[in-house]
Amino acid sequence: MKVLVTGGAGFIGSHYVRSMLAGAYPGYEDAEITVLDKVTYAGSLDNLPTDDPRLFFVRGDVCDQDLLRLLLPGHDMVVHFAAESHVDRSLQAAAAFVRTNVGGTQCLLETCVEVGVRTVVHVSTDEVYGSIPTGSWDENEPLLPNSPYAASKAGSDLIARAFWRTHGLDVRVTRCSNNYGPRQHPEKFLPRFITNLLSGLPVPLYGDGRNSREWLHVDDHCQAIQLVLTKGAAGEIYNVGGGTELTNREVTARLLELCGADWDLVRHVEDRKGHDLRYSIDDSKISRQLGYAPRWSFEEGLADLVAWYRDHPGFWEPLRALEGSA
Ligand code: NAD
Repeated sequence: MKVLVTGGAGFIGSHYVRSMLAGAYPGYEDAEITVLDKVTYAGSLDNLPTDDPRLFFVRGDVCDQDLLRLLLPGHDMVVHFAAESHVDRSLQAAAAFVRTNVGGTQCLLETCVEVGVRTVVHVSTDEVYGSIPTGSWDENEPLLPNSPYAASKAGSDLIARAFWRTHGLDVRVTRCSNNYGPRQHPEKFLPRFITNLLSGLPVPLYGDGRNSREWLHVDDHCQAIQLVLTKGAAGEIYNVGGGTELTNREVTARLLELCGADWDLVRHVEDRKGHDLRYSIDDSKISRQLGYAPRWSFEEGLADLVAWYRDHPGFWEPLRALEGSA
């Protein structure tokens, strides 16, 4: 069995690859993995066990169709993580988001049709639905993305649907809530707050902190992706949630406690433009049909996460030095 993973040097993709290589996915203990990753600022080879004989790493762009034509033949399946993923960056400059997230997905799927790849899992996000004041979205909800990031992911979901409907490509889409876990880039909310607090620095809380998100441990997300790969159906969309919805203020309170800090380190900063107030997904379909059940409680996962960043300054200090920011 040969699996090609795009974006496998990033936060979620590398967790998926490491889990598969470690034998966490039944039936895939001998699978060979090719990772295709451009290694942007968000990716790192340090996230991968590059000396594992079952792993083959290729530095390249998912928009490079000639490269894909060389690489894809012989692979049974593709798990597509590669994307520009940070909402704040998409507010400053959206071109790379459209290029990679929409154009890259089109390029990948077109080549999968050409060379006869059997199955593709396209990893998307709950942000494609937009903000919801009450209740939860199911997979039939219309797409109403608000940030350029979310719009580019919605575009990629529609490309996936089109390749299924038009060309009969077996592509399955997952839409998950906010992930957390080790090895997330310190530009993102939880690692930014944790690494600031561990460094005794203030943390920037957007607006009044009432924005509410559902938190999903990266390991639960990767288990869900593997369920979709092995048991899902062509053309289907699966929401994946973590079950814990909290406001950013509530998350901040927990982080302060875990890091032994006080509210005097919290700075209220101008809200993100177009900041979605609330995301909430109904993931009963994947639970019912594929047997998905998250294993991590947020309480346990957050404590584990703080401990991981405390124990691994070698991961985040160089990235923060590159950013030159706090
Ligand atoms: P990440 O930013 O940590 O990693 C993205 C990876 O893609 C990096 O290794 C980067 O080098 C690579 N990449 C970027 N552009 C590329 C290109 N043109 N060609 C090849 N590789 C390229 O992102 P992540 O948090 O691991 O997210 C992975 C996927 O999950 C994304 O598709 C994202 O939209 C989705 N997602 C993430 C979250 C979350 O909370 N992190 C939530 C929902 C969905």
